[in-house]
Amino acid sequence: RPFVEISGVAMRYGGVEGTLALQNATLEVAKGEFIAVVGPSGCGKSTLMRLVTGLWPATAGNVVVAGQEVDGPLSIAGMAFQNPTLLPWRNIIDNVMLPLEVVEPHRRQLRSQRAMYEAKAQDLLKLVGLGGFDKKFPHQLSGGMQQRASLCRALIHEPALLMLDEPFAALDIFTREDLWSVLQDVWMARRPTVILVTHDLREAAFLADRVLVMSSRPGRIIAERKVDLPRPRN
Ligand code: ADP
Ligand code: ADP
Repeated sequence: RPFVEISGVAMRYGGVEGTLALQNATLEVAKGEFIAVVGPSGCGKSTLMRLVTGLWPATAGNVVVAGQEVDGPLSIAGMAFQNPTLLPWRNIIDNVMLPLEVVEPHRRQLRSQRAMYEAKAQDLLKLVGLGGFDKKFPHQLSGGMQQRASLCRALIHEPALLMLDEPFAALDIFTREDLWSVLQDVWMARRPTVILVTHDLREAAFLADRVLVMSSRPGRIIAERKVDLPRPRN
């Protein structure tokens, strides 16, 4: 059975007269699959991500993740967005460790194995080029650095599902390509199921098994392409 099952999902913001942001979206994602979602601005990509992660309820249709209907924020998902949502009153490492405080069973383990989890957070920060920035606060870092810290936060609890909405948009091309490798390594090592929204077709081709193309007016999935470009393997 697929890990993510989206069937006949529609989303209308603001009641019956509101914007139809997504219609009849149907999609299955296998466990361990890496899919990319591309399409013009406003075609409903972020909306799709919000529905799968349970941040918004769908107007119609249903979303099932790991065999369970999604009816509230999904704790098994790691999420990172284009606009990093770090808590301004927490330093970087405490932001990265946030999911460990929220998601069972990590919450219990965190109490007894704090040093181990801190070391893991430090390793992730080094991996994305933020070694030494652990005690800084979000406002002391550039937008791109905050975005990289958000990626660490999405990965810290080794989620079975990774939902990434343009996580590298604010990065220069060199940093971005470094992070592709980081993400690819994580995926190959642990095989989370990944749904990545991107505007960058090279990024989609480099990382994903399958690319989903969406169209606007109103948002729907119009095509699926198996990626057959040669991809680097370590
Ligand atoms: P994308 O991520 O592909 O740019 P979105 O999912 O953000 O697309 O938006 C799809 C449509 O829904 C757009 O027309 C957008 O204006 C509208 N929309 C998105 N979020 C909201 C919201 N919170 N309230 C009202 N309309 C929204
Ligand atoms: P990005 O492209 O990741 O947003 P910037 O171009 O703004 O990054 O910053 C480039 C580099 O400048 C960073 O990788 C970092 O080494 C350094 N830098 C930025 N902000 C700070 C800071 N608050 N303290 C120390 N170094 C910083």
